[in-house]
Amino acid sequence: MQAPGPQRLAELEARIARELDSIAHPHKPWLVPRTGPDGKPALDVLIIGAGQSGSAAGFGLLRSKVDNILAIDAAPVAAEGPWNTYARMQTLRNPKDYTGPDLDIPSLTCRAWYEARFGEAAWDALGMLPKGLWAEYLLWVRRVTRVPVENGTRLLRIAPVDGGDLLAAEVEHDGQPRTLYARKILLATGQEGVGRWTIPSALAGLPADRCLNSSQPFDFARVRGKTVVVIGAGASAFDNAATALEAGAAEVHLLCRRTEAQVVQPYRWVTFRGFLRHLSDLDDPWRWRFMRHVLSMREGFPQQTYDRCADHANFEMHTGAGVRGSRFDDASDRIGLDTEHGTMQADFVICATGIDIDFNARPELASFAGNIATWADRYTPPDDEQDARLARFPYLADDYAFSERTPGATPWLRNVHLFAIGSTMSFGASGSSINAMTTAIPKLVSGLTRGLFRDDIDQHWAAFQAYDVPQAVIRPRHSKGNDA
Ligand SMILES: Cc1cc2nc3c(=O)[nH]c(=O)nc-3n(C[C@H](O)[C@H](O)[C@H](O)COP(=O)(O)OP(=O)(O)OC[C@H]3O[C@@H](n4cnc5c(N)ncnc54)[C@H](O)[C@@H]3O)c2cc1C
Repeated sequence: MQAPGPQRLAELEARIARELDSIAHPHKPWLVPRTGPDGKPALDVLIIGAGQSGSAAGFGLLRSKVDNILAIDAAPVAAEGPWNTYARMQTLRNPKDYTGPDLDIPSLTCRAWYEARFGEAAWDALGMLPKGLWAEYLLWVRRVTRVPVENGTRLLRIAPVDGGDLLAAEVEHDGQPRTLYARKILLATGQEGVGRWTIPSALAGLPADRCLNSSQPFDFARVRGKTVVVIGAGASAFDNAATALEAGAAEVHLLCRRTEAQVVQPYRWVTFRGFLRHLSDLDDPWRWRFMRHVLSMREGFPQQTYDRCADHANFEMHTGAGVRGSRFDDASDRIGLDTEHGTMQADFVICATGIDIDFNARPELASFAGNIATWADRYTPPDDEQDARLARFPYLADDYAFSERTPGATPWLRNVHLFAIGSTMSFGASGSSINAMTTAIPKLVSGLTRGLFRDDIDQHWAAFQAYDVPQAVIRPRHSKGNDA
């Protein structure tokens, strides 16, 4: 076996190219080309977001011979998604053997990549995967699977093109606006793709540079010698608390609203093929019941994440300590918090309180936000299963497309698909989740190709009728015996 390093990685890449070539059947191009109003070929699928979801969807489309695609990402290369930006953990939270971006091709797994770089023994000895390596791996998969990506390009607005079935995507790159035309748009825009990160209303009015949410950029050097309060008790709350402690905070207090911190990780239970693949096949009452249970729990934290905080004597977790109110005192330059445990002083507050669905918070959804059907529009749960937060999730069609609140008002929404955390109520773990990629990406790709095929059914029928390529040549034959 070749020693780990660049040479072995190059060999792995050559093997992947051979493997992809050997499973490329059927090779035949099948998409009926479209021309945009600009006279140029329109894309079959424009993918917004080139994180793990957008890149894997792109790879799945390429394998289905949908190769006239482009993925754009507002972030520069290597800054897609949370891994090198606001993810403040050291390692992934999921076990190292979770696959996904590889789409079931062993040579494309994180393990194959890791072993080529560092060796089998290093993989065996590895506990959890450092998040920076996951980000590197994602970029590698994207490169070797040849998903076309344009970084630094942000989607601003989606509109239908008059008199056709194309969508116009207004985008911006380096401050320059331009329009991309596509048959379908896939939003793989991550956790906040159809909403925004929250700051509890009890903290409204605090100075923005002293009270932030856990996804905001923050210079942790500022907390040195200061008191930090973290709101929330999910995995990101502990990651932020640990980062503050390691940056030299004098005290870090983590406020957990519940009477006990949740140590169960619901996403571990749902990670089996039956649930991941078929939750979306269930009726609304079952989908709602299961996903309400999953989403009303927090994202559980791994042991290492907890230890990273608990090992510091100046860390304290307060349970049953919801925040009721807050004020900023100019004289002391400090924040006062009213909690269910009494009052507390802080210099900084970091809210790790998750996201809220709010279509209007996203400029690229603005042109149709009012007509996206939500779960509230389609399903009324029993009284003991009500949840206003989850009722705001979009109610997606079975191909991940938005469905219309008022049918016919924006019929082109059937070509705008969502593969993000907002897909979760309709499909279970799916978008924005490593554990589900292995089953959810093929389902997504199948939904996209189904629409592309069906919309061209007349042309496919006509092409079949006109099909006249002979497979064999009939040779002229001399008949025997009659010549005499
Ligand atoms: C802090 C954190 C830690 C996590 N840790 C784990 C973990 O350990 N294990 C696990 O299974 N899951 C984890 N997750 C959940 C999930 O795996 C990640 O959120 C992951 O990044 C989802 O990938 P994605 O491609 O769906 O979205 P992202 O990685 O967020 O990618 C979305 C991309 O869309 C781009 N984008 C958004 N809007 C636009 C626009 N208008 N125009 C152009 N581009 C746009 C963004 O720039 C971004 O790069 C974590 C999530 C967070 C937030």
